[in-house]
Amino acid sequence: MSNENESASGIQVARGDVPYYVEHGLTHPRAVFGLFRKIKTALMVILLAFFHLAPFIRWDRGPGAPDQAILIDMTGRRAYAFFIEIWPQEVYYLTGMLLLAGLVLFTMSAMAGRLWCGFLCWQTVYTDLFVMIQRLVVGDRSKMLEFGRKKWSVEKFARLALLNALWLIVGLSTGIAFVLYFGDAFQTLSEIFTLQAASSTYVFIGIVGGFCFLLGAYAREHVCVYVCPYSRFQTAMLDEHSLVVTYEAWRGEPRGPHHKGEPFEGRGHCIDCKACVLSCPTGIDIRFGNQLACIGCGLCIDACNDMMDRVGLPHGLISYESDFNIRAKEQGLAAPKRIIRPRTVTYLTLIAVVGLGLLFTFVTRARTAVDVLHERAPLYVQTKDGGIRNGYTLKVLNMERKTHVYRLSTEGVPGATLTVISGETNAATVPLDADPDSVATFRLYVTSPPGDTFKAHTDLTFVLTSDDGTVIHKESLFAGP
Ligand code: SF4
Ligand code: SF4
Repeated sequence: MSNENESASGIQVARGDVPYYVEHGLTHPRAVFGLFRKIKTALMVILLAFFHLAPFIRWDRGPGAPDQAILIDMTGRRAYAFFIEIWPQEVYYLTGMLLLAGLVLFTMSAMAGRLWCGFLCWQTVYTDLFVMIQRLVVGDRSKMLEFGRKKWSVEKFARLALLNALWLIVGLSTGIAFVLYFGDAFQTLSEIFTLQAASSTYVFIGIVGGFCFLLGAYAREHVCVYVCPYSRFQTAMLDEHSLVVTYEAWRGEPRGPHHKGEPFEGRGHCIDCKACVLSCPTGIDIRFGNQLACIGCGLCIDACNDMMDRVGLPHGLISYESDFNIRAKEQGLAAPKRIIRPRTVTYLTLIAVVGLGLLFTFVTRARTAVDVLHERAPLYVQTKDGGIRNGYTLKVLNMERKTHVYRLSTEGVPGATLTVISGETNAATVPLDADPDSVATFRLYVTSPPGDTFKAHTDLTFVLTSDDGTVIHKESLFAGP
């Protein structure tokens, strides 16, 4: 048995020798057909179609509100996703969503290894698409290798130009789709093509499109192997029951070439055809065991199953299997898959807790919020009649699409009067109006009764009562001599 393996990328990987970096060119994986290839293609089409078409989906939010279903409105400082509307003050929902996404990733990894990397990650999806385009223009693996070795000619130059042009179109369409999430998609698209869009729009199209082109066309598996941090810590989420793409050495070894009609008695089922290696998009040999560079895409399973069909052996020499089950199979024991176990139950419970917590806080969230800023210069002033006056800036966030009238009062400084500087009121409570879907800003004075003396810091609470009965308390302080 050879101690080395020539992979789809031409990397020479010696058993037991795991270098941090091996300089090599791009991998030219061989096309395969099978279940995992079909799943990957279907997901690629669904994800890319959604990414490009989602900005055009409309969602009626009433008059004056944007009707784009998914929108990050930078000027209006809002994020919309269908019925969800997030204000900058509610950015903690984003933190919650990221936490939830992390937990889902952990669960997927604990259950079936790098499903995310192999099927859903943008790098994988775009690499797949770019390789498919390369196959259309140049041909499959052998043609790609032959093309690389060919001397320069008009035909080679033309083909290379066509290939890069098609890759650039994909990059450009990705950059354009990206910016459509930040403004009305129909209007932005028309502005882009009539050269009316803001220069920043073209800059972002260039940055996103350029990175898409470089990462999909020329970096490819290098991103997964050398750049992405997830591949480095994924093993912490695996245990002996996690299903990972595994070569079943107990069945495959001793491997060796096989000739038609020869029996398989006394030898392993691996015919050393290297179909698994040559079809691997990261260019590794899975027969050396689970590796950091394996993104769990399952294409080697398709390639090997095809070989097994050709030599009349059962599928599954390479399969999604756990370490535990491989040991059981070696001993001829039953090997049921254990998806539900303490680790996955813990992750699922955490997902349920975080998900329900997010849902509850979202459904019950207040649609009015208050921010108070105590003025610092001066911290307080003494009025002619001996009272103490403090200044504040009050922001009332009316997150509903109708006007509200609020009454503002204070607690903590007995007998204090409130004055809205631009207003006419000078009483213990003042009415405030806030337009629909807006932030109303008021400058206020709170003045203590004449002759009262206060400690340097007296706790002061603003109480805002909405016309719909909502009451919000906001803590602040009242400064004195
Ligand atoms: S070894 Fe198999 S599952 Fe892993 S990346 Fe290569 S083809 Fe995909
Ligand atoms: S495809 Fe299967 S039979 Fe061929 S080398 Fe890989 S493991 Fe062995």
